[in-house]
Amino acid sequence: MMESLKTLSLLKDQRLSVRRHPDSTIRRQSHLLRLSLAHANSYIPFYRKIWSEAGVVLSTINSINDLKRLPIITADQFRAATQRGETLATSVEAGEGQRFSTGGSTGIPLEVRRGSVEARLWRTAGLSMQLEHGFSWSDTTVQFDVAPHQPHPLQKLGIAPSIWIDPKLPIEVQMDLLLQAKPSVIHGHVTVLRAMAKALIDRSCQLHNPLTIFSVAELLDKDSRDTIRAGFGVDPTDVYGMTEVGFIAWQCEVHQQMHVNAELVIVEILGEDGPAQPGELGRVVVTDLRGRTMPAIRYDTGDLARASEPCVCGRSLPSIGPLEGRARQAIVRPDGSTITPLGIMNHLSSSLRTGEYCLQRISEHQFLLRITSQGLFPGKNAHEICQELEDWLGGCEVKAEIVTGFPKGLKTHSVVDLRNSLSPLPDNEGCMSTAEKQ
Ligand SMILES: [Zn+2]
Repeated sequence: MMESLKTLSLLKDQRLSVRRHPDSTIRRQSHLLRLSLAHANSYIPFYRKIWSEAGVVLSTINSINDLKRLPIITADQFRAATQRGETLATSVEAGEGQRFSTGGSTGIPLEVRRGSVEARLWRTAGLSMQLEHGFSWSDTTVQFDVAPHQPHPLQKLGIAPSIWIDPKLPIEVQMDLLLQAKPSVIHGHVTVLRAMAKALIDRSCQLHNPLTIFSVAELLDKDSRDTIRAGFGVDPTDVYGMTEVGFIAWQCEVHQQMHVNAELVIVEILGEDGPAQPGELGRVVVTDLRGRTMPAIRYDTGDLARASEPCVCGRSLPSIGPLEGRARQAIVRPDGSTITPLGIMNHLSSSLRTGEYCLQRISEHQFLLRITSQGLFPGKNAHEICQELEDWLGGCEVKAEIVTGFPKGLKTHSVVDLRNSLSPLPDNEGCMSTAEKQ
């Protein structure tokens, strides 16, 4: 009962935050930031240590505008500190909470711990996002994920029922389960949704009036968006989340910018010289405002996104552009401009089917474009695509290789840099799993 009241209270705060005046949002986030920093300084050895080394005086950090005085931490730094046991709050009992593992650029997993506070944050963030999309408590949700989530007690009573479908089942079985469920809301990895959309198109099956399709955990490129829209009859809604932090941002019905969950996180888009201007590309740095078990504070996610103007929908939450992919997979052209993984995928979307190719960076100036025989759109040929890529990327050689297929998994790896990675095809780079949401 007490837990349900806390959940409802947090949900109310999140709902209010969506249309709060920007000045009020700054005041609210500044208040939450002060609480978060005080907690981290009291209970988390890692932050106490790095802030002390950086000469940070916490009493001088009163507003989100002071955030820049805190050092930015990298995923590697956070992982190393976690292995030393320094990122878990000392107030957390041994064995308390759930453990989630995420991979990463080094291939060394990061074990993230979440307590009841974080479970509530995930649940309410997911609900708030769904409610903004017109969700009602009688609507059925389908979750595509390899592991079922723990249903909330109210779901067992038939409120907001949720049905889990394992994406490793044969596609025909998944499709039958989906059609029987008649869901209003669907959550899944982009790869899983794309495969289901193709199956629905191939079998000329129409889904019963879905309201919203939430695509998570991968870049939502143009070809995937077009395929999912064609299969489900609904434009997919992109969601940005990380195992370390939770739901960070989501698209509204306009399907352009992403709205930041301002009640839960602060998002900075940082360019070379500080905060990026609208339209400018930068690294995504997040600060957890409410997590208390293992919060990430000024955490460099390793992701790229563009700073953004407010969305035209009227919601006053801070906005960022769609996620553009991992910074380490981006390509810097000879003229100094950066091409992001999403930029490459969208560029190739008129020639190649997503999921049927992989552009691998072999060395500084050499790329290998691996394509399956089903990957080319009619009228396209691999040689011409390689030549066109060479011109576009500049100063590099691109060779093509026709392959029989790629390993089937929950994620698609369309752009991969093989130069410094011990784990060339990491399956989980910190993005969340759909099962973690509710
Ligand atoms: Zn909007």
